[in-house]
Amino acid sequence: SVGVVDAVARALEHADSVRRLEVRANADTSEDARRARRFGAQGIGLCRTEHMFLGERRRLVEEVILAGDDHVRERALAALLPLQRADFTGILEAMDGLPVTIRLLDPPLHEFLPDRTELAVRLASTAEPAPQDVELLGAVNRLHEQNPMLGLRGVRLALVVPGLVAMQVRAIAEAVVARTRAGGTPRAEIMVPLVGAVEELRIERAEVERVLAEVSEESGVSVCCPVGTMIELPRAALTAGEIADEADFFSFGTNDLTQTTWGFSRDDVEAAFFSAYLDKGIFLDSPFETLDRDGVGRLVRIAVDEGRAARPGLKIGVCGEHGGDPESVHFFHAAGLDYVSCSPFRMPVARLEAGRAALAATERSDKR
Ligand code: PEP
Ligand code: MG
Repeated sequence: SVGVVDAVARALEHADSVRRLEVRANADTSEDARRARRFGAQGIGLCRTEHMFLGERRRLVEEVILAGDDHVRERALAALLPLQRADFTGILEAMDGLPVTIRLLDPPLHEFLPDRTELAVRLASTAEPAPQDVELLGAVNRLHEQNPMLGLRGVRLALVVPGLVAMQVRAIAEAVVARTRAGGTPRAEIMVPLVGAVEELRIERAEVERVLAEVSEESGVSVCCPVGTMIELPRAALTAGEIADEADFFSFGTNDLTQTTWGFSRDDVEAAFFSAYLDKGIFLDSPFETLDRDGVGRLVRIAVDEGRAARPGLKIGVCGEHGGDPESVHFFHAAGLDYVSCSPFRMPVARLEAGRAALAATERSDKR
């Protein structure tokens, strides 16, 4: 009823006036971005780019990843560039004036490769298979992984496949130029996924900056984007002080950080042992639902402390599912994060809880 809607609106307004945590949304289309803005998003904390390569474009990505031939790869990258530019222009337009953290490609590889069993069966049943199909099967076999979630993903893929990152960064930079020329205020930020060592980020960042400088020079519009990293591997959290040298911001990916800290597969959270663990009280709630404060949370605190010791004022957020979980939001407030980012539909809860966390902290300090 109207009364309830009003009461919720007032509660949200009050929460917004007291909270310290910024609340951003995870969104990767301009429609989602517009919806997020309506829900009060102060930016996009995670724009995943994987889904942008599905459908028609999947074949092009497949060519980029599998091409043994530079011409084939370059042609596919050239075809992807204008499509990506349009993706980013739309999102930056929807979020004009607010930060949009765009994450470079982070697919589990198998989602982009042809099914190798199917391919092998097809070739086996063909009297004279085409040489390019035989070559394709060879390439797919070479890249096959038993554990794709621990494999050639994120920054690893970027470092191995030439031109992929340059294409994405060029598309972002050209979208920034287009929006600037249209009189907008685009605020793109570039985020590197699955970093475990500062060296990975150093190499990646140099490439990002090279392309940003190139587009600035060509266009006469100076394109400056902060370059940051996800912290989603225990090693990244433990070496956050070094990684901060190369990162303008951190964003915790608590989905992968939970998976890799516990050694549980995030794709198998329904596995038989999970409910047994809940029954036996080994954990009270799945650590994928509510942040495990002693384990994953401890890594978060270490990374915040080391990151800020190396780079005072370092901007730090979280963009895993925990960013919209009430209890976890309280933890992130206490750990000193700057923002939480969650799905647009969880934003009202995140805003309320961020407000409650700020009030609870004030009450505690008043009592002292
Ligand atoms: C994460 O790992 O928490 C994250 C936000 O990235 P993704 O879910 O896309 O792996
Ligand atoms: Mg992740």
